[in-house]
Amino acid sequence: MSIFIDGRCGICGEVLPIGDAMLDESTSEVFVPPMNPAAVCGLISSPAHWACWAAVPDRLATIRKWGDRILEAAESSPFLQIVRDGMEALLLAQDDPSGCRLIVMPMAVGSWMDVSSSPWPPTWAAGLSHHRLMHEIERESLPRVIEELSGPFPTPEAAWRTVDWEPKRALERARQRDQIEKKQRRDELLDIHNEACDRLARLATSVGIACPHCRRFLKGDFRYLDNRPNGRSCIVCRRCGGSFGPEEAGVQAP
Ligand SMILES: [Zn+2]
Ligand SMILES: [Zn+2]
Repeated sequence: MSIFIDGRCGICGEVLPIGDAMLDESTSEVFVPPMNPAAVCGLISSPAHWACWAAVPDRLATIRKWGDRILEAAESSPFLQIVRDGMEALLLAQDDPSGCRLIVMPMAVGSWMDVSSSPWPPTWAAGLSHHRLMHEIERESLPRVIEELSGPFPTPEAAWRTVDWEPKRALERARQRDQIEKKQRRDELLDIHNEACDRLARLATSVGIACPHCRRFLKGDFRYLDNRPNGRSCIVCRRCGGSFGPEEAGVQAP
C-alpha cells in the first residue's frame, strides 16, 4: 500500500513507531487504513496506533462507511473487484502486474490483509497474515471471517473462479483509448497554435504588429520563443515584457 503519511497517529496525534520505514507493516503496532485514506477518510485519514484504533467507540460504523466507499471505487476501477461483500468480511480481488491478489477486510477491524499467497484459512487461524503479525482484534474477528468465507470459497482458487476480469480489461482499454484521443486532440491544438504563432512572428518581423499589452507598434523589437514541437510558442514584447500569441494579438497572420 503506498500512501503519504507524516508519521503521526491519525487518532492521538503522537508519533508512530515506524521511523523511516513508514509503511513497514511488519510492526503490529501500526494500523494502516485501507486503500487511499483520503478517499475513505471518515474518522481517520492516516495510519494510527493499533491501540488507538482498537479503542475507537464507533469503529464499526466507520469501517462500514469505508466498505461502501470501497464498493463504489471497485465499480469503476479496472483493477479491483468485489468477490464478496459479507457481514464479517469484504473479500476483494486486485489485479496487479505481479498477478492477482486476494484481500480480506474484516468488517470488525478495517485492516487490509493480503491473503493471496497464504494457504487459505489455516494460516489465518494461526494469526499470521501475508506479511505481518495480526493484531489482537484481528485474531478475535478471524473465526467469524473464516466461517463466512470458507463455506463459499474452500480454496483461494474457488474465489478466483468467481471473478471475471474481462469487463474490467474492457474498461481499462476504453480508458486508455480515451487518454490517447485526448492527447491527440491536445497535440493538434498545440500544432495549430504554434504554426499560427510562427506566422505571427514572421509578420511582426516583416510588417510589424501591435503589442496587445502595451499597444505599442512592434517591428523586430520582440523575442520569438519557438517552443515547437512540444511546448507552446509565444512572442515577448521587448518594450513591456508581456508575452502573447496569435489569440491575444487578434491577428490572423497570413
Ligand atoms: Zn495513537
Ligand atoms: Zn508590449
